[in-house]
Amino acid sequence: MAVELTNGTLLALHLGRRKDGPGLRPEQVSIGKLNNVSKALEICRTARTILGANGISLEYPVIRHMTNLESVLTYEGTPEMHTLVIGQAMTGLPAFR
Ligand SMILES: Cc1cc2nc3c(=O)[nH]c(=O)nc-3n(C[C@H](O)[C@H](O)[C@H](O)COP(=O)(O)OP(=O)(O)OC[C@H]3O[C@@H](n4cnc5c(N)ncnc54)[C@H](O)[C@@H]3O)c2cc1C
Repeated sequence: MAVELTNGTLLALHLGRRKDGPGLRPEQVSIGKLNNVSKALEICRTARTILGANGISLEYPVIRHMTNLESVLTYEGTPEMHTLVIGQAMTGLPAFR
C-alpha cells in the first residue's frame, strides 16, 4: 500500500510539473488518472479485507472511502475510456470510433 501510494504521488507530481512546464498531453493525464484511481481502490480494498466483516460496516471509515472512490473512478474517466485514449496515442487507432 505504501509503495503504490508513493508511486501515485510521484506520478501526480511529475504530471503537475509537466503541466507547469513543457506541457501535458491527454494520454499522459489518462495514464495518471487510470493508475492512481485504480491503485487507490486496490489500497482501499486491501484495507477493507484486513478488517474482515467489520470492513464492510459503516463502523469503520474504509468502506466509505471505497464507495467514494468508485464515484471517482466514474467521474474522472472510466478505465475503459482511459485505456482507449492511451491505446489511440500508442497505435494511432481510435478504437472507440
Ligand atoms: C459522483 C459523480 C459526479 C459527477 N460530476 C460531474 C461533473 O461535475 N461534471 C460533469 O460533466 N459530469 C459529472 N459526472 C458525470 C461523469 O462524468 C459521467 O458519469 C462519466 O463520464 C461516465 O459517463 P456516463 O455515466 O454517461 O457513462 P457511459 O458513457 O454511458 O458509459 C457507461 C459504460 O460504458 C463504457 N463505455 C462508454 N463508451 C465506451 C466505448 N466507446 N468503448 C468502450 N466502453 C465504453 C464506460 O467506460 C462505462 O463503463 C459525475 C458522475 C458522478 C458519478
